Formats: sequence, C-alpha cells, structure tokens
Amino acid sequence: MQAIIKQTPEFGGLLLADVPMPTMGASDVLVKIRKTAICGTDIHIYTWDTWAQKTIKTPQIIGHEFVGEVIDIGELVTGIKVGDIVSGEGHLVCGVCRHCITGKQHLCRQTTGIGVNIDGVFSEYISIPASNAWVCDPSISEDVLSVCDPLGNAVHTALSFNLVGEDVLITGAGPIGLMSVPIARRAGARHIVVTDINPKRLEMAKELGATATVDVTKEKIADVMKAIGLKEGFDIGLEMSGSPHAFGDMVDAMANGGKMAILGILPNETKVDWNKVIFRSLFIKGIYGREMYDTWYRMTAMLQSGLDKEVAKVITHNYNFKDFQAAFEMMHSGESGKVILNWN
Ligand code: NAD
Ligand code: ZN
Repeated sequence: MQAIIKQTPEFGGLLLADVPMPTMGASDVLVKIRKTAICGTDIHIYTWDTWAQKTIKTPQIIGHEFVGEVIDIGELVTGIKVGDIVSGEGHLVCGVCRHCITGKQHLCRQTTGIGVNIDGVFSEYISIPASNAWVCDPSISEDVLSVCDPLGNAVHTALSFNLVGEDVLITGAGPIGLMSVPIARRAGARHIVVTDINPKRLEMAKELGATATVDVTKEKIADVMKAIGLKEGFDIGLEMSGSPHAFGDMVDAMANGGKMAILGILPNETKVDWNKVIFRSLFIKGIYGREMYDTWYRMTAMLQSGLDKEVAKVITHNYNFKDFQAAFEMMHSGESGKVILNWN
C-alpha cells in the first residue's frame, strides 16, 4: 500500500512510499482510509524542527486525523462491524492505570500517539484498537468527519467551563480557534472576541459568528472591549495560538475570577505575570487531547445538530494524497483553514 512517510532524518521533507499492509490483532479493526487532514503536528514533522528531531523515530508513517471504512475486524471485537464509517482517537492508552480504569483515559500517563510514536494514518489502510475507533454518523460529510480530532480539541477546550451568558476571548484563529467560535456560540456565550495576527483568519472568525475580532498587530483588545461595552473583562479565555504574547494579552484581559483553558502549546520560556494570576484570582486549566470519550459524544451530538455546516467552512482545501507536497505547503503557509487529503 502507499503511505506518506518520514524516511530518514537526513531525507528532507516527506516521501510517498510503498510499505507493507498493517498487521491486525484480535482486538483491532482494519480501516480503509477515505480522507485525512493535516495537523500542525504533521507540519512539525514535515519541517523537521527540534521537537520532531527529538520525538520521531524514522522511518515512520505520519498523520492522525482521518475517516475511513472498516473492512475487517479482529475476532474479539464487538460493537463495530465491517462497513462502519469510523474516525478515531489518536491517543492509545495503557488500559490498566487508575485513570484508565476509572473512565478518564485521556489522563493516562502511558499515552502513545498515532502518527507520532507509532505509524500513522496517512496511508491507504490502518489497523487500530477497536477501542480507539469512533463509529460516525454517516450522514455527516466525510470532510467534516476527517477533522474530528482537532474539532474534539476545540470541543474539549470550549466546553471546559460553563459558557452560558459569559463573555469569551479566543486567542488564535487557527483551525481550532475558528472551530471554537460556533461551539462557544452554541454553548450560550454572549460576546465572543477572537484575536490573531492574520487578517484572513480573522475574517473567517467573523463569518463563523464572532462578535468582534482583534488584529493584535494593529489594534488593542482593550479598545475592542470598550466598543462592545465590556467593562470588567472576559469571564472565559480559550488560548489557541501557542503564542506567549497572546497568553499575556489574555491574562491582561480577563475579569477577576476569570477562567482560562490553555490548548496552545506555549514555549517553555513563556513569561507569566503571576501577580496578575494570583491577585485577580484567575483559574488556569491545561488541555490535552480530547476527553475519552465524553468529548466524542458531545462532538457527535453537536455535529448532528448543525455544527457540521459551520465546521465545513473551516475546511478550505482538498488534495489527492499524491499531491501531498502541495497540500503540506498550503498548510505550512498559514493562508489556509484545514487541508484535506483524499485517499479514495
Ligand atoms: P495554528 O498554528 O494553525 O493556529 C495558531 C494561530 O495563532 C495562527 O492563526 C496564528 O496566526 C495565531 N497567532 C500567532 N500569534 C498570535 C498572537 N500574538 N495573538 C493571537 N493569535 C496569534 O494552530 P491550530 O491547529 O489551530 O492549533 C492551535 C494551537 O493548539 C497550536 O499551538 C497547537 O500546537 C495546539 N494544539 C494543542 C493540542 C493539545 O492537545 N494541547 C492539540 C492540538 C493542537
Ligand atoms: Zn492508563
């Protein structure tokens, strides 16, 4: 079968290669991939940055965002049948630690990542544990189903706190920040203000229902707050940029007692004004992945009640997998929303 691999550290970029079919265990399902989506993580591997050099063991098939059709199941598998359309949770867990056996697998310390620590989904077929496969509603478009993983990040982050009647600040209008706008809207937020440094992405945030946007290269969040009559600061902050500047902006703009959910991966040297955090009684929650499997249930229910139409607007490009080079360049340019690879 064909797969997109990182061949060796020395080989620049990625390669479309012939690789053996995956082997399948008794508790696994074999999936024929239909669509995959490119994530920032894949771009880190593509550009072979320091994180990738430290983390990835070559040769490796990359990718973790997918939708496909189940074409075989192991003899111990129940609840999934051949023909089901599935997406999947990309974090494999140990299954025996305290968190795993108490329904909080997303907090397992022995997590391995599909497409990071083990072979990924940018290939014609994959085998995954049946417990990681999520049977999808086939009435939802496959483009949208292929982005369940990052959409799940948005759902997990945005629903971390009660949003009814609250004013929400989202820093970073990348694909996940953008998907968070309609989620926050549906969850009952009053004002949703989105910041970025990219005018195109801020335009998309407006189309998706943001009350106001702030291009932080030209405008101040405080001025926009004044313009919409927001006096005491934001009740809820969703950090989705990974930028230390954005994190600082958020701390400054929060109301006393405000709650912040941090998804963006901040560099270690990020400075935090702890006096503001402490004396203004801020609450900070780190977010990793998706809650297993509460996030998947809520995401499915929201997709079935119309969120799918909004998520579809965040998908801006579609390529055949053979044109992966152009697709990765598009994602890398920052000028796109989600970029899909078609494997049909
Ligand atoms: P992305 O990199 O496409 O989006 C980040 C956005 O932040 C970009 O549009 C960028 O222009 C914007 N930005 C840069 N500087 C800014 C500033 N000073 N103020 C406001 N915005 C600024 O990423 P994405 O795919 O949407 O993911 C969002 C973040 O979440 C990334 O940091 C990613 O690494 C992280 N992430 C975390 C997890 C997790 O489990 N914790 C999972 C997926 C992604
Ligand atoms: Zn565990």
